[in-house]
Amino acid sequence: MPEAVRMDGKEVARRVRAEVADRAQALSQAGAAPGLSVVLVGDDPASHVYVGRKEKAALKAGIRGATHRLPESATTEEVLALVQSLNDDPAVHGILVQLPLPRAVDTDLVLDAVHPSKDVDGFHPANAGLLASGLDAIAPCTPSGIMRILEEYGVDCNGKDAVVIGRSRIVGRPMAALLTNANATVTLCHSRTHDLQGHARRADILIVAVGRPEMVTADWVKPGAVVIDVGINRTDEGTLVGDVDYASVEPIAGHLTPVPGGVGPMTIATLLSNTCLLAERGG
Ligand code: NAD
Repeated sequence: MPEAVRMDGKEVARRVRAEVADRAQALSQAGAAPGLSVVLVGDDPASHVYVGRKEKAALKAGIRGATHRLPESATTEEVLALVQSLNDDPAVHGILVQLPLPRAVDTDLVLDAVHPSKDVDGFHPANAGLLASGLDAIAPCTPSGIMRILEEYGVDCNGKDAVVIGRSRIVGRPMAALLTNANATVTLCHSRTHDLQGHARRADILIVAVGRPEMVTADWVKPGAVVIDVGINRTDEGTLVGDVDYASVEPIAGHLTPVPGGVGPMTIATLLSNTCLLAERGG
């Protein structure tokens, strides 16, 4: 059996980060050094790890990063005041609100308060609306990173049947919009979809973003399909697995992303390139 081409997100991310370093240098020389501000509220340990990684990656790429920390007890008003001060700061080009926010904070209000011209994650309804309308928009980092992986591996979306499993605001929905804008015929599946496996089996391009370990097995996949695994799940043994059973799908698929080392590294790399894009636009 031929094996699927392993799509190496780490390698593509390295390329993106090198491009970002060049763009950041050009911006700095023009007196507009790109600045990324992260809002971190509370004590969620995973969020602290993610923010630490983002800070390190920004610094390495020549992007000025600053993390603004608020305690677990912060109110919605306090978080909104911080976001407003960053909206007003001309040295800040991108604002990222690390999710999840503590339960007492109104996440939708906070995300909507980020000025659309500084919305590095593309979560603001104005940017989501532009993307859904097929207009020029800052798109969320994970699905944008996936589009770059497809491009790097020569996958042409034009006229292809694409199936996205998962309809979250940060992955599934914007993924479906990006694929539609790239001329794929898109089916967006979710927890209420009937015959999920039947939909998946018809896909030329299958994107899985659910959060269920190894849910997609060989009999879900059309021979030769491009399979992108967004899921990150920790097993009881402490290892990371995706939403796709890599070992069983590898002999069937044409292209496949691993977990770890597939989509994950592209998310931070795209965050950095989105920061440059906002700085280049002078936002
Ligand atoms: P989410 O929980 O917000 O959304 C999950 C989606 O899956 C929902 O739309 C739901 O309808 C759908 N779903 C749930 N059970 C289903 C089922 N049995 N069949 C079909 N659909 C089902 O999750 P999310 O934020 O979109 O993340 C999804 C996964 O991707 C998680 O494992 C997350 O950790 C991972 N993730 C990875 C990255 C990355 O950089 N690699 C980024 C974001 C999320």
